[in-house]
Amino acid sequence: MRQSQLFTKTRKLAPKDEVAKNAQLLIRAGFIHKEMAGAYSYLPLGLRVLTNIENIIREEMNAIGGQEITMTALQSPALWKKSDRWRDDAIDVWFKTELKSGGELGLATTHEEPLTALMAEYISSYKDLPKYVYQFQTKFRNELRAKSGIMRTREFVMKDLYSFSRSEEEFRTFYEQCAAAYVKIFKRVGIGQMTFRTFASGGSFSKYSDEFQTLCDAGEDTVHLHRGKGIAVNKEVYTDEVLADLGIKKEELEEVKAIEVGNIFPLGTRFSDALGLTFKDDKGTEQPVVMGSYGIGPGRLMGTIVEVLSDEKGIVWPKEISPFPVHLISVSSGNADVVGEADRIYELLKENGIEALYDDRDIRAGEKFADADLIGIPTRLVVSEKTMTEGGVEVSGRQNGATAIVSENEVIERIRN
Ligand code: ATP
Ligand code: MG
Repeated sequence: MRQSQLFTKTRKLAPKDEVAKNAQLLIRAGFIHKEMAGAYSYLPLGLRVLTNIENIIREEMNAIGGQEITMTALQSPALWKKSDRWRDDAIDVWFKTELKSGGELGLATTHEEPLTALMAEYISSYKDLPKYVYQFQTKFRNELRAKSGIMRTREFVMKDLYSFSRSEEEFRTFYEQCAAAYVKIFKRVGIGQMTFRTFASGGSFSKYSDEFQTLCDAGEDTVHLHRGKGIAVNKEVYTDEVLADLGIKKEELEEVKAIEVGNIFPLGTRFSDALGLTFKDDKGTEQPVVMGSYGIGPGRLMGTIVEVLSDEKGIVWPKEISPFPVHLISVSSGNADVVGEADRIYELLKENGIEALYDDRDIRAGEKFADADLIGIPTRLVVSEKTMTEGGVEVSGRQNGATAIVSENEVIERIRN
């Protein structure tokens, strides 16, 4: 894409009321637009990153047998009354609204109830199980505080997967498979080394659950980390009993701030009982389905990556989620030969299936480099009079300043590696 055609522009300053680093940088670089506290729009560059993150999650969920659907955000009170979660004291972040034709409805904060009811129409026998169903779907939550940029918003897309199993044992096997898939996801998006499986409270569903927490000073959570074992314990369940269960000692743990990027939850038969999701086992006995839920917020994940990987010049995107793999910059100072060469490289990249953001704008070189640093694409190609005299294109990385001159013939191979 030619940068001269991109409708967004970089900005020197973020809105005054924006206090979160992730949103400040993403707004300045033109990835997102702040509509109001807790609500952001994703612009062309931002949507590309979000889509890349979603696709990584999608691949890993498909790999463990997930089937993708998408459900409506509109929620009927009748369903949520069955599980006793329509009450505002059961879910304190409900957005509710009234129908013109009379009656109320809710905007989904999560989807256990409607999906359990939906599955009840398809599951009747042990032969129908297990099943794993997920979606990327918009949730609405009336969060009290919205000061963490895109890490805590009042409208956000969640990847929520729900597992439906015949027994506790069958559920546990999948639970561990999903935990392993989460580890792969966080590694692929570039925050594997600083993200830890964390023992946490099970809320109203079960005694415990597992969170995936990324170490970050801007995080809202406090966890006790065992670096040696690569596991952590959330402050809320930091007790002698839990430590003994996990076989770790207080002295071995560090107290750190972290961001919950995902979590996995045993649901037991809480929802299958309430909504009548049962199956006939091989002896013909009616049994409740054993459920689990598995969430990741792609937007929160994107914000977290910006928080932990950016530097004083701007964002640093990991390769797999960068909006473009390559930032091509022409420094022509009006020299038509340089423009011609940069255009040729751009076409060459395209022919080889490599999408580049091509800074073809007629502005000062310093401004182009500052913008490129802010936008954060990991690989940069520069074409200038100087690089042409030296026989090619300059290749450099956003993170380490190392540069090399590469001939036109070698550019593609160089980028692929
Ligand atoms: P928190 O404790 O941070 O409020 P939660 O326990 O309410 O999170 P879940 O309901 O389990 O979160 O949601 C699953 C995932 O969705 C979270 O791990 C997080 O990645 C994401 N998420 C939750 N709330 C928000 C929000 N307000 N904005 C953006 N992402 C969110
Ligand atoms: Mg919450």
